[in-house]
Amino acid sequence: MISMPVTESFATNLSCAKCGTAYPIDKIQYFSTCCEQPLLVEYRYGSLNKADLAFRENTMWRYHEMLPLLDLSYKVSLGEGMTPLLPLTNLASQFGFEHLLVKDEGLNPTGSFKARGISVAVSKAKELGIAECVIPTAGNAGGALSAYCAAANIKATVIMPVNTPEIFKQECKYFGAELFLVDGLIDKCGQLASKIQFENEAFNMATLKEPYRLEGKKTMGYEIAEQLNWQLPDIIVYPTGGGTGLIGIWKAFHEMINMGWIKNKKLPKMVVVQSTSCRPMVDLITGINGTLPDESASIANGLMVPNPFGKDLILKVIEESHGLAVAVNEEQIFKSVKEIWNQEGMAFSPEGAATWAAVKILIEEEKIDREEKILLLNTGSGYKYLENFID
Ligand SMILES: *Cc1c(COP(=O)(O)O)cnc(C)c1O
Repeated sequence: MISMPVTESFATNLSCAKCGTAYPIDKIQYFSTCCEQPLLVEYRYGSLNKADLAFRENTMWRYHEMLPLLDLSYKVSLGEGMTPLLPLTNLASQFGFEHLLVKDEGLNPTGSFKARGISVAVSKAKELGIAECVIPTAGNAGGALSAYCAAANIKATVIMPVNTPEIFKQECKYFGAELFLVDGLIDKCGQLASKIQFENEAFNMATLKEPYRLEGKKTMGYEIAEQLNWQLPDIIVYPTGGGTGLIGIWKAFHEMINMGWIKNKKLPKMVVVQSTSCRPMVDLITGINGTLPDESASIANGLMVPNPFGKDLILKVIEESHGLAVAVNEEQIFKSVKEIWNQEGMAFSPEGAATWAAVKILIEEEKIDREEKILLLNTGSGYKYLENFID
């Protein structure tokens, strides 16, 4: 094993996503107070070459210069990232696709890509000496926070809709978190999280209201590029709730262009997939007002985010990438779950399966075609949802 010298983070400051006002990186930050928008971590583009990655650890921390943890000794890692990027061979041949791929995030610790963001945010909390973290969650982020806080010796408080499947509650309790159940969706959980933040001086990790989870999730973008030998796909299909992963992948692509790791010929079209039960981004794009979110309507609970704080950034990604937004219904989600489990032997989550349902719709509508190189994000493990799979 070659031991690498500890290199400092290349992070320089945070900046308001809307007006660019700079904020310091060495103390706890939430969102921008100037425009009430997410804060983005800015980096100097140092001497990191993609060839340097070859001997690095097989986790997302292989890109640690491009993460905001200033002192790596505070890193809290359970082996997240470097998940498999695989072809969906059987579905591709059955449906006539040339390149149909998946990045399988279900193989992360706690069974979802939430591990990436939470690993960075909890590491940052440790570096900043924080004693308690609180999070409003649709399920997976709560489990991830509980696990990483257990590893970091930090108290975790999780707030979840009462309608969330039992397994998401159990995992938090077993990892030692304090769990509150709220009658409503994630926005209502957010109100209680803010209260606990102020009463207990807890670090509130609500989606995009702090800048660190985004940085963890952006490593999916780095891995997609590295695993595809720096040739990006034509289309990336992303099941969107708060939008962190979508925004993060797009941020990573721009950072890699700035470092000369990829050439800015044509970036992938980014496709936002939502549930017909809760589709704020699809409604914004199409200008049609959908139904109000139904609190028990989707098995894809990670998509039930009625008012994403990062909606301006999500819109920007769709616009800049010439992307699309599409909603899929419960029947289409279930059908896709079955198809993927049955034909590929992969345990997709309902959110992940929603991307396959979306691809079929977009083909039907002739908005994408079968010759394009299409990458789906399976954001979580379907095993956590088994009790809710019917027939
Ligand atoms: C949280 C979650 C999503 C939504 O992720 P965002 O990046 O916040 O849009 C999708 N799928 C699963 C399984 C999730 O847990």
